[in-house]
Amino acid sequence: MTFEQMNLDKNIIQALHTLGYEKPLPVQEKVIPNILSGTDCIVKSRTGSGKTASFAIPIIQNLEIDERSPQALVLTPTRELALQIQQDFDRIGTFKKIKTLPIFGKQPFKFQKEDLKQRCHVVIGTPGRVLDHLQQETLDPSKIKYVVLDEADEMLNMNFLDEVQAILKYMPKKHVTCLFSATYPAVIQRMSKKYLYKPAKIDL
Ligand code: AMP
Repeated sequence: MTFEQMNLDKNIIQALHTLGYEKPLPVQEKVIPNILSGTDCIVKSRTGSGKTASFAIPIIQNLEIDERSPQALVLTPTRELALQIQQDFDRIGTFKKIKTLPIFGKQPFKFQKEDLKQRCHVVIGTPGRVLDHLQQETLDPSKIKYVVLDEADEMLNMNFLDEVQAILKYMPKKHVTCLFSATYPAVIQRMSKKYLYKPAKIDL
């Protein structure tokens, strides 16, 4: 399988080649087609497997560039991961000119509020601060069509699960959810059952 066979936009293929990604890694071969076709996914995978691009590529492919409100929300346990994921989105989306915004705690709320008023396609954040913005209506969830729960087990370890579930309640009815986790404790299994619709289960 090649990236070309996945029917991706030329500008994405060009960015992937610039990054030196010759062909999809196993997690990408499985996850990209599912997200592209609108199927929820539960993915058992670790950092280093290429999982970030496995969700960034199909999300970027399906973004409407003229839409002002966020179309994708990525939740991740730490600020460092949020910045790493943002960098991957920016690199893969560079020729499509996508706009991304990291949102995490210990950063002034009011500056984030101003940033959220600008055009933004993808928000990548830690659960506490993202929930704050939803509650204060400074983050408009109405156009979100992709939700990624990255490192769900780590978010659980950091006691973010209540916030994650509260965030999910704000999401529009019709959206694609992808949950990534290295392990599957019962709490995460229950959450998957509750919030994902007929998910593809990908275990590498
Ligand atoms: P991740 O698991 O998302 O942290 O990615 C691990 C590393 O794999 C990152 O440094 C990516 O730049 C790299 N990577 C992702 N996809 C590919 C690919 N298709 N070919 C080569 N390297 C890749």
